[in-house]
Amino acid sequence: MVGIAAGVTATAASAFLTYSVRAPSAAVFGASVYRGGQERRAVALTFDDGPSESTLSLLEELARQQVPATFFQCGANVERLPAVAREVRAAGHEIGNHSHTHPLFCFRSPWFIETEFRRAQEAILQVTGAAPSLLRAPFGARWFGFRRAQRRLRLLGVMWTVIGYDWRLEADSIVARVLRGISNGAIICLHDGRGLRTNPDIRETIEAVRRLIPRLRACGYSFETVSQLLCPTT
Ligand SMILES: [Zn+2]
Repeated sequence: MVGIAAGVTATAASAFLTYSVRAPSAAVFGASVYRGGQERRAVALTFDDGPSESTLSLLEELARQQVPATFFQCGANVERLPAVAREVRAAGHEIGNHSHTHPLFCFRSPWFIETEFRRAQEAILQVTGAAPSLLRAPFGARWFGFRRAQRRLRLLGVMWTVIGYDWRLEADSIVARVLRGISNGAIICLHDGRGLRTNPDIRETIEAVRRLIPRLRACGYSFETVSQLLCPTT
């Protein structure tokens, strides 16, 4: 019986840890938002892992459809492609912090986690002239020390309401996933990069965005940056 009880406890502890690290709504390792207010018919498109060589094509599509978005950028990518990072900012999009080198934080030290976000914060500020107020953990995985890093850098954690799995799905499936998960105040997670990889193929993402925007507009949704979605007066 003791063995069974211990096994159940270990299973429950493991499930709780998985929830704490991964679940968009979990706040165990630090406060995060995963959606905006549900009273307005607005949503936010977010793109992680850029800037990349492929980001400019996405910017063209967003400009063509006149949609603002939020880009959670990696500091190392910003240093590698400063002109692209500046283009994102110049186009009026919001830039958030997605760590410097896109590591998985599980089992890393609080110092390591804070240093990752601090380096990215400095790189983004230096290159674009704007300091992010939002951060998103690489792989959405938070860990011990994440809360302290957020507090010391004064960054609000942002997860997502719906994630498109756009790094492995085709445009049709990405669109279907997002439409299934959409509602007022939704934060949609897509990608304009693949970690620190050069020349990532994001054609399915761009095609999904091209189709999604008119579909969502037809349902009455408008598009905002994450900060606009969370604080409608800004
Ligand atoms: Zn990422």
